[in-house]
Amino acid sequence: MFTLHGNGVGAGIAIGIARIIHRPGQEIPQYKISQKQVSHEISRLDQAFASAGAALNAIKGQLPAEGIGEAHAILDAHLLILQDPVLSQGSRELIDGQQINAEAALQQHAEKLHRTFNKIDDPYLSSKSADLAQVIDRIQGELVNDQVGLVARHEGNYEGEVIVANDLSPADAIELKRHRISAFITNLGGPVSHTAIVANSMKIPAIVGLHGGVRYLRTGDLLVIDGMRGVVLVNPDEVALEAYRRRQLKILRRTQELNLLVNAGALTLDGVEVLLNTNIELPEDIQESESQNAAGVGCYRTEFMYMNREHFPDEEEQYGIYARVLKQTSSPVIIRTLDLGSDKQVDGGRASGAIVTNPAMGRRAIRLCLHDLGLFKPQLRAIYRAAVHGNVKMMIPMISRVDELDRLFFLLEEVKQELQYQSFDFDPDLQVGGVVEVPAVAIAADLFAPRLDFLSIGTNDLIQYTLAIDRVDDEVNYLYDPLHPSVLRLIKMTIDAGNAANIPVSMCGEMAGDVGFTRVLLGLGLRDFSMDPAAVLPVKQQIRLTDISRVRPLVDMLLKTTDPEQVQSILQRINH
Ligand code: PEP
Ligand code: MG
Repeated sequence: MFTLHGNGVGAGIAIGIARIIHRPGQEIPQYKISQKQVSHEISRLDQAFASAGAALNAIKGQLPAEGIGEAHAILDAHLLILQDPVLSQGSRELIDGQQINAEAALQQHAEKLHRTFNKIDDPYLSSKSADLAQVIDRIQGELVNDQVGLVARHEGNYEGEVIVANDLSPADAIELKRHRISAFITNLGGPVSHTAIVANSMKIPAIVGLHGGVRYLRTGDLLVIDGMRGVVLVNPDEVALEAYRRRQLKILRRTQELNLLVNAGALTLDGVEVLLNTNIELPEDIQESESQNAAGVGCYRTEFMYMNREHFPDEEEQYGIYARVLKQTSSPVIIRTLDLGSDKQVDGGRASGAIVTNPAMGRRAIRLCLHDLGLFKPQLRAIYRAAVHGNVKMMIPMISRVDELDRLFFLLEEVKQELQYQSFDFDPDLQVGGVVEVPAVAIAADLFAPRLDFLSIGTNDLIQYTLAIDRVDDEVNYLYDPLHPSVLRLIKMTIDAGNAANIPVSMCGEMAGDVGFTRVLLGLGLRDFSMDPAAVLPVKQQIRLTDISRVRPLVDMLLKTTDPEQVQSILQRINH
């Protein structure tokens, strides 16, 4: 038994069997095998060589015969490397001699060959070194039966398993949701990355940012995942296993206790009513939202609908999906328009060139949509049309300038005129709000508020941009601080500006669903929260135990405190 540590995400504890999934070019799993497993491991290696050869031949067969001689030459060179017994035999010998897994043996042998190439000062041989690397990547991919997509191409059933990967994109995570896995753990990633957010919505624990720890694991290991403490127990003994089973039971009892609050009001001790909404990613999540008796949907992240498929959903498909969601609820639903870009790539970032430098500051969300009307207009039309089936509001992510809103409103008018002209049934009056997630908007919220029907504070990005911390990067995650006075001040400025303009201000970032911050947010004046459905009842319980007039002066202190120890001690006073 040994333990690994990372950032815990999501609810509770999972106990399950590890399943390693791997993408070419990523960290290679390395572990010892027994003498008995050697022949099995060698046949895995041989099989991977054979499949890689078949894949190369298939690609070659699809190339037109004329005009791309260079492509043929590259594929032939790769086939020659693959068939060279030096590569396969050397790896086999390592499996046998060192009793290590096929991936590790192949990697070790390839490194030796690279060193040999690099010692010779010859441009031809160094170009062969790059070819060798590509061939090795292909075989490694075959070894885990995963050449292109990480999850989407796996036909296997992962139900109940713990997925172990170097990294998972949001597209991978949303695909895993279908597989009903029991947990996932990754080397990379931060706890407010979209991948982690999907873990929350799956109601499973996850651990991200294991900093290379996954290389000590192999498929078949028994794992305990403690999402609350960020701990992975590998092949635990019976005593530890029993202790975790007892903790699992305790969590279950606590969930049952919380369920008694489903129909209770979200009212503070001093009689202030609070709205609790949900964030959803997939249309079927509306059932979970309804089961928590939430006030409505505060943020429907529509971009997940665009992932893991060959073609984008057209207007009709989107209309059908939105209408289906709306027919299942009588509560308001805020449909957030597409927030693609940055870490949320349609294919998880696998298409070449999809990830740009500083993607979080690049052409994402409304910037992408206003740039590509062919992408945006079908969604706008579908939302207007679906709005006749329920209570819909539209929310625009990533606004940063008032003139962006001018362009947006101009476009909305155009869309409505077209729908009118084409005699579609639609709701021309639906409200339009904006996500406050760029600091510039929070600072000048008084200039944005009068132009919009509502605001929603997206703390996940607001914190990322305010503190200059990539929310996906585990290396700087320790700096991700929702209680930084700059962040708290921006939240307060936004709430105050909304109140002055007499429009509602909600919060849809992860901070809204963290019971540790509920009282701080109430003290800052927030009365409208939107969170993962699983957080609704714990937050409601905290609200019912809060006296806002008591916490307000303490929250005022937080706005002026920078010392981390003092911040923690004030937070403790707020929460007790
Ligand atoms: C946010 O940024 O806080 C937010 C709610 O949006 P997302 O997490 O989808 O970027
Ligand atoms: Mg955001």
